[in-house]
This record gives sequence, structure tokens and C-alpha cells, in this order.
Amino acid sequence: AFVFNEINFDNHEQVVFASEAKSGLKAIIAIHNTKLGPAMGGCRMWNYATEAEALRDALRLSRGMTYKNAVAGLPIGGGKSVIIANPKTDKTPALFEALGEALERLSGRYITAEDVGTSPSDMAYVAGKTKYVAGLGDRGDPSPFTALGCFVGAQAAVKHHLKRDSMEGLVVALQGLGHVGYDYARQLHAAGAKLIVADIDQASLKRAQEELHAEVVGINEIYDVQADIYAPCALGATLNPDTLSRLKAKIVAGAANNQLATADMGEVCRQKGILYAPDFVINAGGIIKVCYEYMNTPEDGMDAHVRRIGETLAEVFARADSEGLPTSVVADRIAEARFKN
Ligand code: NAD
Repeated sequence: AFVFNEINFDNHEQVVFASEAKSGLKAIIAIHNTKLGPAMGGCRMWNYATEAEALRDALRLSRGMTYKNAVAGLPIGGGKSVIIANPKTDKTPALFEALGEALERLSGRYITAEDVGTSPSDMAYVAGKTKYVAGLGDRGDPSPFTALGCFVGAQAAVKHHLKRDSMEGLVVALQGLGHVGYDYARQLHAAGAKLIVADIDQASLKRAQEELHAEVVGINEIYDVQADIYAPCALGATLNPDTLSRLKAKIVAGAANNQLATADMGEVCRQKGILYAPDFVINAGGIIKVCYEYMNTPEDGMDAHVRRIGETLAEVFARADSEGLPTSVVADRIAEARFKN
């Protein structure tokens, strides 16, 4: 009763529980779907309260990767792994080597990468034991590609919803000036948008004020400002009944994962006339970069591939209108048409 009736168990092909006593490794590797290619998705390290919680996370995240990778037009499937341990206190080389050995046994059906709680330096230990690890950081950070995808995605949303070809003069409420958010903000500023920003990091805020003439508001005020676009680039679940009753923006276009607190928030956006760029479509620039790098695909086509996120979103928006469906549902269907038999 513990595994197969899990809410997130959704035709997962294979779920592997890997443990090794010497290093203390306790990991769950969830391979959701490999129809389009080997499963790719990061390795999360988290001090889960229970094993059930870890399993739930692995199942949910791996399924999400199938959808993201399929919509991005990549020749990979979806998977994810989680290590049950505290990333602040439990990291050792042996732990990541043991994970590498577990991946090696899967013969490439799953390729890992860094994620929340893990870093490129941790992945270097994994790489000591297996070649099935991507995004080692030796050829650069994926964040600028995620930011580029967000920018072209925002352009597509503006064109569709506001019938405008330019960002000039539009106001963007941007939450989170991190690796992705700051780069995205820079592109918006260069395109003539006005920025209102929030972050918990004072240095990033100061830099955005000085370099991008951004207006700074508090982390809770960002939902109330008068803006055309809301760009969540920090936390998940920021589209919920509370924030959706407060947002003035008519477009949501940001990098954060899992923006919808619950799936039905997609329909709430639609009813409120808010055009939501589905998170897993707009934030795929990073995985596109990681996939090209891992597969040694010539990188001259990569920029164009990331820019196709804009075209994909235009298709999602048009179908959502003609079918009267939330954009989130349309994006799911586009993915499913590609990976389901
Ligand atoms: P990051 O850690 O570099 O940046 C996050 C920023 O948000 C930081 O500046 C942090 O101070 C700020 N922040 C934290 N709590 C906040 C709050 N309550 N209000 C406002 N700001 C807050 O992370 P990142 O790599 O830029 O990723 C941002 C988001 O995009 C995450 O949700 C991530 O999962 C998602 N994402 C990132 C990539 C990528 O390529 N890095 C790819 C896909 C999705």
C-alpha cells in the first residue's frame, strides 16, 4: 500500500531504492519515462522527514522532467533522484561515489545533474564512478539560457496577450534576483521595460537599483504592485488564491519551478484573464543547455533551440484560447502527445 498507490505514481517505468551502508547513502532514483531517450533530471539532497516524503518528491519531480524535456523538444526522457540526508552536514565524497555506482548499474537509463542541495563539485565525485552525469559546470552555468528562455517567453506572452511587439515601457514585477532572475532583469531592462524588484538579498537589490534603475519593494509587496508582467524567479507555489486575488499583472512569465500552488490555479488564471506561461515550458533553457553539453550536440544550434521556447509558448497560448483551456493543461497535452505511446 506504500508505493503503488502514491498520488504521484503515474506510469513510472522504474523506481530504484539504492543504499550503501559504508557511506550512508539512501537514495531513490525515479525513472518516469524513457520513450524519447534516457531519463535526465537532477539529484536533490534533502533532509526528508520520512521516506514516504522522499518517494513522493522523487515521483513528482521525475514526472515533471518528462513533461519539461518533451515540450522542449529534447531527445531525453524524465527522471530525478533524491538523496535522503542533510546537505549541510552529511556530504562526503563517498556518498556521491556510491550514488555514481548506483547510476552505473542502471547503464545510462538515468542521467543525473546538480539540483537543490547538490552542486557541480558534488557531481564531480559522481562522475568518478559513472559517465551518466551531466552539467558538471566545466562548460558553464545553465542559468543564462534559462533567463534567455524566460525573456523570449515574455515577449511571446506580450505579443499574444497585449498585442504588442515591444517591451518598451512595460512594468515587470520581478521576484528573485538570483542566477536566472538578474540576467532576465538585465534583458528586460535592455528592452525598455521598467523593473520593480524584490529579494531577501540586499546586495542584489542595490545592484539592480544602480545598474537597472529598478524600484525595490518588500518581499510581500511584490504581489500588490501595479505591473504588466509578474516574473516569479525565486520560490514555487506563488500562484495561489491569495496572490491571484492581489496581482495586477495580466501576464505571468518567470523561471521558478512549480509556480501553481495547486493544478486548478491554471484555470483560476484563465478566468481572471491572466496569461500564465507554464513554468516547465518557459524555464527549459537550462535543461536545453545541459542536454546539448552532455550529448555533445554542436552548440551552434543551441541559442535557436532556446529561442524556440517563444514559439512553443505562442502555440500553447493560441491553443488555450481556441480550446478554452488553461495554458497549463494545453502544455501538458503537448508533452503527452510526444512521450505517450
Ligand atoms: P538562485 O538561488 O540563484 O536565486 C534565487 C533568488 O531568490 C536569490 O537571489 C534569493 O535571495 C531570492 N529569494 C529567496 N527567497 C525570496 C523571497 N521570499 N522573495 C524574493 N526573493 C527571494 O536560483 P536560480 O538558479 O536563479 O533559480 C531561480 C528559480 O528558477 C528557482 O525556482 C529554480 O528552481 C528555477 N529554475 C532555475 C534554473 C536555472 O537554470 N538556474 C532552471 C530552471 C528553473
